[in-house]
Formats: sequence, structure tokens, C-alpha cells
Amino acid sequence: MTTAPLPDLSGNTVLALHAHPDDESIFTGITLRRLADAGARVVLVLATGGEAGGSRLPLAGDTVALRRRRELERSAELLGVSRLVLLGHRDSGLPGGPDLGHGRALAAADPLALGRRVAELADAEGAATLVFDDDAGIYGHPDHRAVHAIGATAAALSGAGAYRTTVDREHLHVTARGRHLVHGAAAAAAVAFGRATAEITTAVGGSPADLDVKRAAMAAHASQIDPDALSGEDFAAAYGYEWFRRDGAPGVLDALGNVHLLAGAR
Ligand SMILES: [Zn+2]
Repeated sequence: MTTAPLPDLSGNTVLALHAHPDDESIFTGITLRRLADAGARVVLVLATGGEAGGSRLPLAGDTVALRRRRELERSAELLGVSRLVLLGHRDSGLPGGPDLGHGRALAAADPLALGRRVAELADAEGAATLVFDDDAGIYGHPDHRAVHAIGATAAALSGAGAYRTTVDREHLHVTARGRHLVHGAAAAAAVAFGRATAEITTAVGGSPADLDVKRAAMAAHASQIDPDALSGEDFAAAYGYEWFRRDGAPGVLDALGNVHLLAGAR
């Protein structure tokens, strides 16, 4: 795998907005780690506590939210996050499920009010770049769609550049053969996922060291992710790249290594 050398991004602040604890590691783990290693300040904003995710492990008296918060804090530390901000909404669960009707469900919250809050945070942090889910919500989950609406509002209000997180569906069909967690998530939501390669502007590739960090950050979410999903040599095939759609001129994420521009990288 060809990996671009890291640029000097000191003085830059990037605000990454995600729906649930573990999304930051699955969809942007390499990107956040490379930003931090390049000297950028990374602010991670989580919209919900992931309450609808349940737990694959005994909780020993913890609530799902408390366990997932601890896992998130560990993941954020591994990924070099400078500041973690929780918006305090509740996981909306899958379409048709009981969690959508909860009073604090993110999908029922006002995206304009939350977008203003995130824009104020971006302004206070001097963040010129926002990262948030694309308009399809990566795979259509209501909370991921909500994160898109919040992020797009915040970008418009703050004037920050926007990278919209997705996955390259064609790459994953060819290389991962159903291995990426988004395959199962999309099947559960009964929707298509990701984008065609031609719709993606920016792909960030990880070095072997970046991949080790991403694997560890995903493993920190032990209540959600089966360790079997993280083992084996094909981890890199499923998780070695992260994909974004950007409007306008290339920005800091492109400087991390756009593999489409690196001959022989794909
Ligand atoms: Zn999620």
C-alpha cells in the first residue's frame, strides 16, 4: 500500500462530527490519526451515546450509554483527539424501531438548532474544516442522516470547508467482499450504502501503523465490535482507506494522501 508522507498541518483545526460511538473509528480512524500526527488539532463531536446499540458483552452494572462513553474516550485517545464534545442526544435506532419515538432521539431533534451549536463550537475552536456524514447518511441510518443535516447547517453558518464521510461501495465490493461492518449495518437497515468510486473526491489511505491504531480504536468499542471482525490480513482490504466527498477546493484531508492521485496505489 502506498501512503503519502504526512504534511505539516500545525495551526489547522478539524471538527469531526459523528452519530454514534464507534463511527469515529470505523469511518475516520485513519484520517483523525493522520491529522493529529500531522500536527492538526482534532475536535471530535458525538451526537448520541449509541444507546440503541445494546452490548455484546455483560455490562456488570453499567448502562449501555456509560459503557459506550468509556469506549469512546479510549478510542478518541488512541486517535489523537484533542477535545471530545458530546451533544447529549439519544440513539434513534433503526427505522421502524422503538427508539425513534424517544423524546431525546437525535432524529427528532431540530437540526438547525444543533447546527448552530456545532457552528458556534467550530467558530470558538477556529475550525476551518468540518467532517460529517454525506447526505445519504453513509448507509441511511436516521442518526447518520441527522448528522449530515447538522453538519451541513454548521458548515453553511460557519463558512468552514466540508468533507462528507461515506464509503467507496465499489472498492468494498471488490476488496472486502462483505467484510466491512457497513455491509451488515446496511443490510440491517435494508438500504444501499456508500457511493460509486466516481462520486468520491478524497480517499485517505493508512500506513500499516495507522491501520494498527484504527484496529485498536475499533477494538476499544468491545461492547459493539466482535474481535473476529478485526483479525486477519484482510483487515486492510476492508479498512485501509477512508472516503469523503468535498465541495470546492482541496483542503487538509486531501493533503493526507488522496490515493486516487497516487499512481499504483489502487
Ligand atoms: Zn453509527
